Amino acid sequence: MATSCVFCRIVAGEIPSDRVHEDERVIAFRDIAPKAPVHVLVVPREHIVSLAETDAAQSELLGHCLVVAAEVARKEGVARSGFRLLANSGPDSGMEVPHLHFHVMGGRRLGGLG
Ligand code: AMP
Repeated sequence: MATSCVFCRIVAGEIPSDRVHEDERVIAFRDIAPKAPVHVLVVPREHIVSLAETDAAQSELLGHCLVVAAEVARKEGVARSGFRLLANSGPDSGMEVPHLHFHVMGGRRLGGLG
């Protein structure tokens, strides 16, 4: 755990979150500043800075994150209407929290990336 990391502190329960899923490897909770009617973050419990820091050793964890993202989309009722899965990585992406996470966004027609 990185003590200064907000997502590590959420994983540890030190900062409250509105959890929609949790298991031994990941948690998923609602984004505090949602950009869509459904906006959930899928976050590994382990502190990994970003996708750029991963390699084959994280294959299983990364696959699990995608499976959980799909489960979240189904639970939140956006699997059929559609959703976006987004992972920012590094400064040019606008990443705000340097702890690997995937945004699951849906519930309205999302604009193009740009
Ligand atoms: P990113 O720009 O990909 O790093 O996204 C970080 C996301 O974390 C942003 O959408 C924030 O609104 C969200 N966020 C930051 N702090 C919290 C928090 N305490 N609880 C829930 N979401 C948060």
